[in-house]
Amino acid sequence: MAYWSGDSSGDNEAMTGGLVRCGHCGKTNRVPAAAAGTPRCGQCHEALPWIADADDATFAEVAEAAKIPVVVDLWAPWCGPCRMVSPALEQLARDLAGKVKLVKVNVDTSPQISQRFGVQAIPTLLVLRRGQVAARQTGAVPPAALRTWVDNALAAAG
Ligand SMILES: [Zn+2]
Repeated sequence: MAYWSGDSSGDNEAMTGGLVRCGHCGKTNRVPAAAAGTPRCGQCHEALPWIADADDATFAEVAEAAKIPVVVDLWAPWCGPCRMVSPALEQLARDLAGKVKLVKVNVDTSPQISQRFGVQAIPTLLVLRRGQVAARQTGAVPPAALRTWVDNALAAAG
């Protein structure tokens, strides 16, 4: 059971989440896709990386309602460049644990989200702040450039 900062609503069992290993103490925590606050390790209370999947039905709750900036990865299983950028995004989510949430959206199963953001090519990456697009990147970029892009988006959005 993960400990949630800033969460008094107790609804963290509402959605089934993934298991995340704490980079600090090694304890495995269950992290739901959506919750108030940000996930912290139940044992040492360090911030945990937050990586969640979303689709047309869950995007509003998982991505738009998040209190911290969200990096959205619009991808598909058949997309080679998506598979290249995915590990870099997951590393970024670990490096920026507690500061950003990574939300992965499979465009094949999320036509409404694809249409809404006008996705022409994948991967398309978005930085959302309070549901608003703060930055957008189409196509794979090297890990270092990806990190710079996210850092700039977070800084620009203040
Ligand atoms: Zn821990």
